[in-house]
Order: sequence, then C-alpha cells, then structure tokens
Amino acid sequence: MSDETSLDPTDWEAFRTNAHAALDVAISHMETRKQSPVWQPVPAEVKQSLRAQLPRSGEDAEVLNARIARDFLPFGVGNTHARFFGWVHGSGTPEGLIPEMFAAAMNANLGGRDHVANEVEKQVIDWCVEIFSFPKTAGGLIVSGTSMATLIALKAAREKHGGLDLRKGGVTSAAAQLVGYTSQQAHSCIARSFDILGLGQDALRSIPTDAAFQMDTDALHAAIRQDLAAGLQPFCLIGTAGTVNVGSIDPLDELADIAQEFGLWLHVDGAFGALAVLSEKLKPRLKGIERANSLAFDFHKWMHVNYDAGFVLTRDDEDQRRAFSERPEYLEGATRGLAAGNPWFCEYGPELSRGFRALKVWYHMSRFGLDRLGAKISENCDQAGALADVIAQTDGLELLAPVSLNIACFRVVRDGLGEAALDQLNSEIVVELQEKGLAAPSTTRINGKLAIRVNITNHRTQISDLKFLVENIVALGDALS
Ligand SMILES: *Cc1c(COP(=O)(O)O)cnc(C)c1O
Repeated sequence: MSDETSLDPTDWEAFRTNAHAALDVAISHMETRKQSPVWQPVPAEVKQSLRAQLPRSGEDAEVLNARIARDFLPFGVGNTHARFFGWVHGSGTPEGLIPEMFAAAMNANLGGRDHVANEVEKQVIDWCVEIFSFPKTAGGLIVSGTSMATLIALKAAREKHGGLDLRKGGVTSAAAQLVGYTSQQAHSCIARSFDILGLGQDALRSIPTDAAFQMDTDALHAAIRQDLAAGLQPFCLIGTAGTVNVGSIDPLDELADIAQEFGLWLHVDGAFGALAVLSEKLKPRLKGIERANSLAFDFHKWMHVNYDAGFVLTRDDEDQRRAFSERPEYLEGATRGLAAGNPWFCEYGPELSRGFRALKVWYHMSRFGLDRLGAKISENCDQAGALADVIAQTDGLELLAPVSLNIACFRVVRDGLGEAALDQLNSEIVVELQEKGLAAPSTTRINGKLAIRVNITNHRTQISDLKFLVENIVALGDALS
C-alpha cells in the first residue's frame, strides 16, 4: 500500500506558527535562566514518562513542544547558568539557536561531495590553523569533542611511527611495541585512546608532575631512556594545555624539544586551555603549542559554541588522511559533478556521515569575533585569581593548588576535624550547593584531599556570583560541621 504523502507539513502555515512559538519558548528559557535554580533533579514523574511504549503513531507538535517546555527545559545539566562551575563545561549562547535551525533546514552530510557546507568546514579549519600558527601543510576535522579528536590524532601518530601496515596487520605486526608518555594529570581520554587503538593502556607511561602540576621533564627523560634500553619504541608524547584538575599547563616548548630529540609525535590536549591563545595576555604561557604534531581542543568548552563541537588539528594533513582514508567503489570521487570536492572529510576520521557542526562554529566565530571570545577567557582567569584572593582572606578556607588559569581547588577546614571528616564535610557542601540549586561546583582530589573544584569556563559568571558562592560555602561549612 503506497501513501505518497511525505513527512513534510500538510499545513505550512500551522507549522510556521508552531515553530515560531517553539523558538519563543527557547528564547524565553535562556532570557530568564538566571532566575531559576542552577540545577534541579529530574522529577520521578518525568523519568517515569520517559519509560513509555514505542510511539507507533504520531503526536501533535503542540503537545510535544509543551512537554519539552514543562518536563525537559528546567532539568538540564545547569551549564547555561552563571553559577555553574562543575567539571569543564562551556556555557553556550542564545545565538547558538540560529545556526542550529539553519543546519536543520539544510540537513547536510559533510562526509564528502561537492557542496557549500564542506566549504564552511574548510573555512573553520583554515581559521584554526591560523589561530594556532600551524604551517600551511596543516589540516584537521571538526568532531564531537576532544575525546574523539584525541583518538584521531593518536591514530595518525600510531601509523606515522608504526607504519601504515598497522592498518592491515594490527599492532601485533609492529616491529617493536609502541609506547607513549603523558603526565599523571592527563585526561582519561588519552588512556582510552590507547585502549581503543589496541596499544593498551599500559603502553601509556604516566609521568609524575611537580608542585605546579606540570609534567616533570627529568622523569620523562628517564622513562624514555628506560623504554629505549628495553627495546621498545617510544612514539608519542602527550602534553596538556589546561589540565582538568587544576588547569596547569605542561612546559610545551620543552616537551617539543624532547619530542624532537627522541623523534616523537607531540600531541597536545588543549581541550579548554588551548584557546587561551586568543588572549594576548595568556598566549605566552602556551608557547610551544605551535610546534605540536597534533592538537585536540573543544569549541564547546571555552569558546561557548553550543554542544557538541571539538577539533583535531594536525600539522601535516596527509598524516591524518593516510591513517583513515578508505575509498571503496561506492565512494569514488570525481573531478566534476556532486561526487567531486576531493579529498572528502570521511577520509580524515572514523565517521562517514557527518552533520553540519561547522555551521554553528563558523557562525559563533563570525558573530562574536575572536577578540571578544579571547577577552572572555582572560576575564575568567582574572575571576579565578580574584576567587583565590577571597579564599586566602577567608578564615576556614584553604587553597589546595595554585590557581594557574581558570580553576580554583580549595576546601573548608575546621579545627578538630581529621582528613576523613574534612573530605566528608567538603563533599557534603558541594552536594548541598547543587541540590539547593545555588551553585554547581564539582569535586576532585588534590594530593589525596577532597577539593571543592570551581572551574570558570563561563561567560555569564560575575564576581558577585563568586562572592555568593563563597558565602554559601562558608555558611554550609558552619551548618554542617
Ligand atoms: C573535557 C576534556 C577532555 C575531553 O573532551 P570532550 O570534549 O569531553 O570529549 C579532554 N581533556 C581535557 C583536559 C578536558 O578538559
């Protein structure tokens, strides 16, 4: 039985009215965001309503939109609020609604072929090459985030050093076991990439850090020499620009020297910190990043592009293409027509079909301009410094790590409480702040001590928000101890 009605609206005017109303709801949500709790738990009824049966037949758009407004919008992560300080989240912008709409209208697939969306992505790639002062040979790919970017970069590194035959023979066919190096403060996505690439997490050496949480380069030297003496093949060194715990930056220029000395691929995890190059004041701290073989970073963190969007930048575009390119007959290119536009983006990573993430990144950079985005980054670092000052001046608060960039790790201390009791107290304070919807820091451990961790990658945060946070932490410390 054939029903030749498409999925398009039968009544475009009704659709238009409904879509405009939905847009208004979304805009109002963002406009009034600060008046609502930073976070609130998803009510049991809402969770229950999401255990429904398969929707065999369709529902009215008005009904669905009303449900989203009532049941979904208020119960997000919280990162669109000025007092969200947990983990590392970007805060997004209302402007992000616009490219998302246009991207949906075009419904483009950026796996390849010859169409304008790919040109937009190429523009973003060129801009990234320029931002990080990479050479003309450089290229890259817009991806979901730094985890994916890291995987792609390390695959390129693996093949560059282990040989392209690894693509067929697997890692067991390598002449010698491939090993890599990163610091103890590195993000877990690096070890995960070692796992996924078949290298094994044990092949990633975890190098100790110094008092400033930067990689100890003497220990790095020693580890490389030991592996060489054991007949292994050191192939990559992974530095971090902005560690997730404390925001420290590895000595990138020195790492680049060491990578050169031993012929290693230098990868930099700059998930949020790399974009500090957009601030003239902070840029010198990232010296050496321009020497990396590859760099992974996120647009969705410190650039505030709405989730999700990250980037892998490689110094030599060809290294990345060789590690992934597969062109079976049904994906053959052409010099003319729609199948032209070589090379295709699907040759640069594991995904064939790819959405138009590039549009929101391009829009965001074009709309706000990199100077303003860089100024917001700089401002967040100043705010973290001001927070550290307030902590230092407040009785009963103790800073647990130096504030290097935009992250402050500290805790409430009270006389007579031992380490275990302090861990318990500070953990409880963070949960209370979150559950009361007042603010959302997260926790981590610094030298074994549980820390309240305030990460400021938030263009909405003001000093008054940080003062409010500290006041509430102190009050909760009193009430709970
Ligand atoms: C967030 C983060 C990652 C992972 O990035 P995703 O975009 O979440 O995949 C990796 N490294 C650091 C330092 C991070 O902060």
